[in-house]
Amino acid sequence: MPELVDFYRVDDLLNEEERLVRSTIGRFVDERFLPIVAEHYERATFPTEIVPELARLGVFGMHLKGYGAAGMSNVMYGLACQELERGDSGLRSFVSVQGSLCMFPIHRYGSEEQKERWLPRMAKGEVIGCFGLTEPEFGSNPAGMATRARRDGDDWIINGTKRWITNGNVADLAIVWARSEQGIRGFLVEKGTNADFGARPLRRAIEQNVEDPLSEDILRGAFKGKDLIKITVKSEDEKNKHLFFEAVASGQGEEAKQLAKASSDAT
Ligand SMILES: Cc1cc2nc3c(=O)[nH]c(=O)nc-3n(C[C@H](O)[C@H](O)[C@H](O)COP(=O)(O)OP(=O)(O)OC[C@H]3O[C@@H](n4cnc5c(N)ncnc54)[C@H](O)[C@@H]3O)c2cc1C
Repeated sequence: MPELVDFYRVDDLLNEEERLVRSTIGRFVDERFLPIVAEHYERATFPTEIVPELARLGVFGMHLKGYGAAGMSNVMYGLACQELERGDSGLRSFVSVQGSLCMFPIHRYGSEEQKERWLPRMAKGEVIGCFGLTEPEFGSNPAGMATRARRDGDDWIINGTKRWITNGNVADLAIVWARSEQGIRGFLVEKGTNADFGARPLRRAIEQNVEDPLSEDILRGAFKGKDLIKITVKSEDEKNKHLFFEAVASGQGEEAKQLAKASSDAT
């Protein structure tokens, strides 16, 4: 970490092994990820070609022991995530959703059979996981969770909609949270079985907005039905042909503001 931003001298607290983990992941980010990230950003794609390399670096479930995981410390995992995040937040999310949100609950709460079945392949990046908690109406507050799970003989029937699910459109396995008679429970839902799941990529809303010309109606139209970003037009300055927006959705709000600003500046 550059000395200038290490205000608390965190670096001094790290041992040699921890620094080595950080520099190894940092080198990967510099050499393998940063050269391709701009192109993937433009195309709104994730570089799946680097998944086997990430697996070889041991970052999937890095802090877990056994079942093919690297068994490193939480500090090492944190340092690795810091470097991945330096590359791109999406890269870090890909890794931490896999390791912390999917592998960890299986490791901690799964049966032996589930651990054997999923964890080694997840550590190798052969199975990608996602974690479905957040919902359109209640966000990530489980108290309002609308997704329901009910018993039907030996089966479970799960019904509901989730939103903001990282890796959702590329995942082979989903940990889905649903309300059942026994309370809120997590379910392992495997893609391609009769318990299938699907996800719409977020990128479409963003792409469309970039291309929209300036017009209050068109801008409203562009966002209509795009439940990922909601924009409120607050006022219009006729003279400067500037529209002012208030982004009301979380997460993507700032990006939406930038896009709106960019398109209004362009005319
Ligand atoms: C890029 C991205 C990836 C994501 N990936 C996943 C995923 O893989 N799986 C998944 O399930 N979810 C995912 N999410 C959803 C994310 O976990 C939730 O959006 C997040 O936890 C916030 O919850 P919420 O939307 O319910 O917002 P809220 O909790 O309703 O928060 C909205 C606002 O209210 C404020 N607030 C909330 N409670 C209080 C309070 N008690 N007092 C004062 N202020 C408060 C918050 O600080 C925030 O500003 C993702 C979100 C993003 C943006």
